[in-house]
Amino acid sequence: MSNEAGGIVGEFLSLKASTDADVLAMQCGDFYEFFADDAELVAAELDLKVSQKSSHGSSYPMAGVPLSELTPYLTALVERGYRVAVADQYETADGHAREIERVVSPGTVLDPGDAAARYLAAVERDGDGYGLAFADVTTGRFRAAAVDDVDDVRAELHRFDPVELLPGLGLRDDDAWPAVRDDTDARLTRRDPEAFAPGRARHRLREQFGRETLDAVGLDADAAVAAAGAVLRYVDETGAGVLASMTRLGTLDPGGRVALDATTQRNLELTETMQGERDGTLLSTLDHTETAAGSRLLREWVTRPRRDRAELERRHDAVEALASAALARDRLLDHLDGTADLERLAARATSGSAGPRDLAAVRAALATLPALASAVEGTPLAESPVADALARPDQAAARALHDELDDALVDDPPGSPGEGGVIARGHDDELDELVAEYEEAREWLDGLADREKRRHGLSHVTVDRNKTDGYYVQVGKSAADGVPEHYREIKTLKNSKRFVTDELEERERTVLRLEESRGELERDLFADLRGTVADRAELLQDVGRALAELDALASLAEHAAGNDWTRPDVVAPGEGDLTVDAGRHPVVERTTDFVPNDLRMDDERGFLLVTGPNMSGKSTYMRQCALVVLLAQAGSFVPADAATVPLVDGIYTRVGALDELAQGRSTFMVEMQELSNILHSATDESLVILDEVGRGTATYDGISIAWAATEYLHNEVRARTLFATHYHELTSLADHLPRVANVHVAAEERDGEVTFLRRVRDGPTDRSYGVHVADLAGVPAPVVDRADEVLDRLRAEKAIEARGSDSDAGTKQAVFDLSAGEFVGGADGRESAGPTTTANGTDREERAADANPADDGRAAGGNGEGGGRAATVKPRRAEDTADATLPPDVRAVVSELRSADVNDTSPLELAGRVSEWQRRLESASESTPNADASAEAAAETNADTETDR
Ligand code: ADP
Repeated sequence: MSNEAGGIVGEFLSLKASTDADVLAMQCGDFYEFFADDAELVAAELDLKVSQKSSHGSSYPMAGVPLSELTPYLTALVERGYRVAVADQYETADGHAREIERVVSPGTVLDPGDAAARYLAAVERDGDGYGLAFADVTTGRFRAAAVDDVDDVRAELHRFDPVELLPGLGLRDDDAWPAVRDDTDARLTRRDPEAFAPGRARHRLREQFGRETLDAVGLDADAAVAAAGAVLRYVDETGAGVLASMTRLGTLDPGGRVALDATTQRNLELTETMQGERDGTLLSTLDHTETAAGSRLLREWVTRPRRDRAELERRHDAVEALASAALARDRLLDHLDGTADLERLAARATSGSAGPRDLAAVRAALATLPALASAVEGTPLAESPVADALARPDQAAARALHDELDDALVDDPPGSPGEGGVIARGHDDELDELVAEYEEAREWLDGLADREKRRHGLSHVTVDRNKTDGYYVQVGKSAADGVPEHYREIKTLKNSKRFVTDELEERERTVLRLEESRGELERDLFADLRGTVADRAELLQDVGRALAELDALASLAEHAAGNDWTRPDVVAPGEGDLTVDAGRHPVVERTTDFVPNDLRMDDERGFLLVTGPNMSGKSTYMRQCALVVLLAQAGSFVPADAATVPLVDGIYTRVGALDELAQGRSTFMVEMQELSNILHSATDESLVILDEVGRGTATYDGISIAWAATEYLHNEVRARTLFATHYHELTSLADHLPRVANVHVAAEERDGEVTFLRRVRDGPTDRSYGVHVADLAGVPAPVVDRADEVLDRLRAEKAIEARGSDSDAGTKQAVFDLSAGEFVGGADGRESAGPTTTANGTDREERAADANPADDGRAAGGNGEGGGRAATVKPRRAEDTADATLPPDVRAVVSELRSADVNDTSPLELAGRVSEWQRRLESASESTPNADASAEAAAETNADTETDR
């Protein structure tokens, strides 16, 4: 194509062919132009006008933007996911030529619209595992690490939320690639395999960060080195010019961090709600920061909780000091307000794109450091880690750089260095001389009008300058005839004439020459200054980090003080119980009259089964417990009256709530994958939150999985677990697994109305709540009674064993009879599970009674005490199990009734449905019962419908 089209279009097309960018912007004089397909694309995306450009007999679409406006257009294109090549024009001996200077992509754009971190990521896999690298070109942050597991890859991708991802070939060949790809919103940019070659990558990393650094941070695995190298190479090749601001290589700190997989980050709504919004997240609730850098750091703390007790106590000390010193805190926040983003300015300085106002902002931010230090002096903060954080950057170097900038820059510089008036007087002798001369010339010009009036007796004289005429003397028409001989007329206007003189022309030349030299010199001096700042990128990052830290700590203190949060006691794992007094949900408490609840988990009570009706507050309770732990390990105060948090190594959650399933956000397969991940990854130092397990399948499948998962978590993993379930049957496990205890969220019925008390109490909830609700809804008593009976019988032949392994006697078994809702037969571990098995052993009788409100003592062995080992349960008597008496029509009503969700149905609709059921029951009672209906058929119906109960 480039051969056909010559000239400018031909040049465009051949440049375009040389790049893998999606779009090319080519400088043509004062414009950047797009041609052919690119013109159409850009016009459609950005509402530009398309014109036609003829070239060598063909006509091409063309669209353009002025030079000065390229940046916003580039940013807009990149935001839409395009990679844009920019070709600049330069002078040659015989005209101009153009060359691609830079490719702007989502991960390499230097002037993004917002202040959030923008990561460019690379991921590679080899035989040993995965390598990850993340770089934020706008701040120079760079992190890389090796991880073993693809779940860690996904967790880190979720945490860093990169805008562009370079997937290595090894990753693309991996089975897990489709899942990783689907999980990220990042633009995927494929690079040649050689971009990931470990040998070259290692060399590149050593050049960038120094040989020792690589050893010091332990970056050794080939995959990690390859990923890091690929990122560096990409940043280099795209011409962002910011490599110099990437001064430090960080790790992902796998040892000290808390595992927080992508699912958990989403379920706990840390930075994004389940609906994908930012409002209503933990971060948006906590974030009172004054600066962009502070906000970025807070995000990092919330998404990367720590296990390092000393570091957490340092943050807690600082938050405590800041929370109680309200006045000093306000003063600090005032100083921080409007402080520039030093990390970003450092990157702009190294890329050469920082302008005079950017350097003035650096100067102001550097001045904030001593201002903050003196605001802290003499206050209680002086003894706190706040003072240490401020003292950490090299104060002398910061002061020196500040003074250098202050010496060189005027107070309020213009936006661009070539306009003059950027560099302060006294900074450079040559410039001072030029300025003096220039000012003298200007003074002469300023006084000229008056002098000419006096000298030649003229009235109405002005001296001015414009682009076409240069400097001129303008004389009113009436006086124009009296001008002296040496005036040369250059223009006649309606009421005046314009003249020049030799002297004026000479002065004009002087002024122009001085202006030009001054502009040139200022540009050079400014470039030197910018170079000085770029050389101190690391210092700027240190100061920026200190300011950000102060901002984030002050923000946590602000929130703690304003919401009655308290300092948590963080203790080593195993050195204390997890207790929360009057805990609240940090986000829900902001908008609701919140009912606080306690949490107590210890060696005897490590697994809480949470029951309660729909909408009673189970999820909220479990999430608040997880968030209290997370906040404590982020270094924050917590929403509670008191809390002791033994440090966890991971927080795992899975939410199988029905609305998730219904909205297609989850499938049974996903649910099981998440469960599997938890069972594999959690340890006895983890916190596990399970919000329904097994809902996505038939009842008996679901209950069996939930049952077995409970046993495994209790016996093998031994993680602290909160498990909300609607399988009431599971509550009996508390009697057989020593560390399992029941709690329920209480609801109260009064005058046929259910009131949610939001109180978490020990013991399981009422048993057949669904049928109970049907009763409340006014379903006729015979139907409710019958439903209870049917429920019992459906469970008749089902039995599950409980396996415990906590006793000295090794594995013991008990058989749970679903029909009776209790254990039967030989639970030889029953006694050893005795009264010490829960923290509140005194409740046991009550709870057992609660669990079996209809206990008629039918089941052999009662609660399983004293019986021998039993592997099976005797079937019930035939007349009990047979459910032949129920006509199909009635059965259908009963099944619909059971599956009706009272909380999700409007009263009006409910009334309608109830009267329809009544009508159907009436007509059913007129027909004869179907003698063939078997219990088995009824069980099938039940199994089908229970899943969406
Ligand atoms: P469940 O998981 O039992 O279905 P949720 O936890 O989703 O119930 O809570 C249902 C509703 O009750 C939510 O709108 C929540 O805001 C509110 N809620 C839950 N716990 C409390 C509480 N302790 N105080 C006040 N409101 C609460």
